[in-house]
Amino acid sequence: MLTAIVGINWGDEGKGRMVDLLSANEDVVVRYQGGNNAGHTVVNHLGKFILNLLPSGILREEVVCVMGNGMVIDIEHLTKEMKRLIDAGVKICPENLKISDKAQICMPYHVALDRMEEQRLADRKFGSTGRGISPVYGDKYMKKGIRMGDLLHPEYLRSRLKDIVEFKSMTIEKVYRGEKLSYGAMLDWLLKYGEQLKPFICDTSVYLDRALKEGKRVMLEAQLGALRDIDFGIYPYTSSSSTIAAYGPVGAGVPNHKLDLSIGIMKAYSSCVGEGPFTVEMWGEEAHALREAGGEYGAATGRPRRVGAFDAVASAYGVRMQGADFLALTKMDVLSYMDKIPVCIAYDVNGKILHDFPTGEALNAAKPVFEYLDGWKCDISRIRDFSKLPKEAQEYVLALEKMVNCPIKYISVGAERDAYIER
Ligand code: GDP
Ligand code: MG
Repeated sequence: MLTAIVGINWGDEGKGRMVDLLSANEDVVVRYQGGNNAGHTVVNHLGKFILNLLPSGILREEVVCVMGNGMVIDIEHLTKEMKRLIDAGVKICPENLKISDKAQICMPYHVALDRMEEQRLADRKFGSTGRGISPVYGDKYMKKGIRMGDLLHPEYLRSRLKDIVEFKSMTIEKVYRGEKLSYGAMLDWLLKYGEQLKPFICDTSVYLDRALKEGKRVMLEAQLGALRDIDFGIYPYTSSSSTIAAYGPVGAGVPNHKLDLSIGIMKAYSSCVGEGPFTVEMWGEEAHALREAGGEYGAATGRPRRVGAFDAVASAYGVRMQGADFLALTKMDVLSYMDKIPVCIAYDVNGKILHDFPTGEALNAAKPVFEYLDGWKCDISRIRDFSKLPKEAQEYVLALEKMVNCPIKYISVGAERDAYIER
């Protein structure tokens, strides 16, 4: 059984929180794309954790976690993240964490290049997290990458690194007028952090294929959301990887297995980190109130997130791109303070009303068309039964369900593992 947990919106929908909840009956949880630009928050009996690279299943002792070939891994960051969790009492060993030999290594020069490029762009910047993600994916497709498996073959690693450092140095020195890279320093970095990770590196594709054939349950955990997908998102303000469910089996290393279930995580309102068109954006007091109510500050970066009303146009598109079978609606409790809840039901693009999510210049020109739904104005965070929700809250869920044309099976009313309603 192969299930994907994916984001319907711009990211930060609460995927980590839902993976932590829904992995109760899973055998394996796999991250299949992205790197430590992710910030997946999990709150359970063990405490509060922000995971950047490790799959959110790591907090369940009986679950095996896999970091797939579609990922980009900053090995220094991973080593520190593992230590932080081990210090908090979480078990991490080669039996419960497996790292793909085909995952790309995010090198210190990728981080440097990411920042140098944002500096060059100045006021035209993309709002990158500065974690080297776009340069490392760029190198992957230029075939200038170093992979986790190379750490197991020091001679090959040395010769490959020599070549790559020479190539990257040219860009850094001649294009950005930065400092020449030191081959020795890069090799030391790889050997230092690689040494600790060696026991975890293996052919995870073989492992997962076997697990699936034995009838095990495997859950794929996405980073970011449909609107940040490199192909289908708000390009060029996307991430550099494929965030959609259909890519899941590829990025996990089991393209021979079909996805059985796609579960979309959709937020009850909108939030977005970084630059790019965000049609439903709120400003001033209105934005401040929602940001505070939802604690909308980046889990990976601490940056205040841009916030806005629920966007039915963008969300319906996200549901379609993710092929979602059903949805989990998160952060419903955050809206409890609102008298009237705005919902964007269409876009007005130069006088033309659109229901299909546009791209490029049409998206830049889009103005939201709002409808206002009644608020419920009371605390719903302790409710565990749909029929016990105030009538207005029930109606909000049913309205959203209709707008995006997909059943909402779970409603999250708090960050803690058990703060949810199942329908
Ligand atoms: P992810 O990147 O999709 O995993 O989401 P993040 O962890 O970046 O952002 C979600 C934030 O909302 C985290 O701080 C969660 O602890 C919190 N959260 C998740 N679900 C709920 C919910 O239903 N209600 C509230 N109030 N907070 C939630
Ligand atoms: Mg996040």
